Amino acid sequence: MNAKMLWQYARLVVEVGVNLQKGQPVMINCPVDCAPFARMLTTAAYDVGAKDVIINWRDDYCAREHWLKADDSVFDSVDPWVVLQRNTLAKEGVGCISVSASDPENLRGVDPSRLRRANTAAGRDLKEFSRMMMSNALPWCVVSVPIPAWAKKVFPGLSAEEAVDKLWDEIFKAVRITEDGDAVAEWRAHCANIEGKAKALTEYDFAELHYKNSLGTDLRVKMPENHLWLAGGDICKTNGVKFVANMPTEEVFSAPLRTGVDGTLAASKPLVLNGNVVEGIRFTFKDGRIDEIHADTNEETLRTQVGLDEGSHYLGEIALVPYDSPISNSGILFFNTLFDENASCHFAFGEAYPACIKGGDDLSVEELKAAGINAESNTHVDFMVGTRDLEITGTTRDGRVIKVFENGNFAI
Ligand code: ZN
Ligand code: ZN
Repeated sequence: MNAKMLWQYARLVVEVGVNLQKGQPVMINCPVDCAPFARMLTTAAYDVGAKDVIINWRDDYCAREHWLKADDSVFDSVDPWVVLQRNTLAKEGVGCISVSASDPENLRGVDPSRLRRANTAAGRDLKEFSRMMMSNALPWCVVSVPIPAWAKKVFPGLSAEEAVDKLWDEIFKAVRITEDGDAVAEWRAHCANIEGKAKALTEYDFAELHYKNSLGTDLRVKMPENHLWLAGGDICKTNGVKFVANMPTEEVFSAPLRTGVDGTLAASKPLVLNGNVVEGIRFTFKDGRIDEIHADTNEETLRTQVGLDEGSHYLGEIALVPYDSPISNSGILFFNTLFDENASCHFAFGEAYPACIKGGDDLSVEELKAAGINAESNTHVDFMVGTRDLEITGTTRDGRVIKVFENGNFAI
């Protein structure tokens, strides 16, 4: 792999992704297979004056062994020292980098009740930490690095080595790194572009969006008053610094009115959920709540996640991505939500980002609920719905009817 491009990537994640400031600690969650990249991130972090770099290693093999063979008693709580580590660092304003790379089917055959109980436990025990993340009290950034098991799933016809190289090429393209380019400048321009789109959407002040396509989607989504469309960077409310939570990011997103979603919604891509691939998702909604659930594969995995708590039955995110976006045009199915969600219009069921309401990062859960968004759930799962023929028609609060999407792309 091209060392110059790798260093650009590591510096981009540290300096634009979490935008690490002098004296700030950084926590890196990373698979052991990606250790060489974690080392580069570590150097890049110390180079900008990190106070300390804390690494939490993960491993697909060991994780699978844990899910299959650990004593049944360990799935009902998160170890207290893990909670203490996250909360202590979060209060210090840690920059949190997650390297997302996993075999999409790593947990095939694992007892679903173990996954459900562990998800419930993580939602409960790591609530303080996840709330700080969701409300931008700390800067965070999710990125990806290829590992063989994942790359082989994306490019099944290639050898493991070729597949990893090809996935690197695609990731570099998606995060705008070229050998002689200036990734930081590229990202500033890209963020300014999508932030402009978000601002324009906010100014329309849509009361409702109507989705329709030939997959069977026919969905009306009401938007709360004072909603904001966001894109590109977020502002960390603790140090006032701008960070980019996902690399790549192509989406412009907001939060729907919790009780204002009605109709049918068909997914357009498979979803990797808890180490299983869920295909052919179809939901119907009544007054915002998921009423019917169908999937062609691993329906039980999906039902378990939607059934996690009351809030997971409602949508928390609405996101627009043109069908002709660069990642979508690659034609590759990544089996990794970080990429697939940035190639397609999507929604998320579960907790909304507070910043999608004016001043929301400073509101309590009760105030956010009163503002109309899905403010309380222990999960947030994006799933892809965009197609080449997706039409979205908006109605503004003052009654204007506007074509927002036509033939899968922005019409405004
Ligand atoms: Zn999203
Ligand atoms: Zn999301």
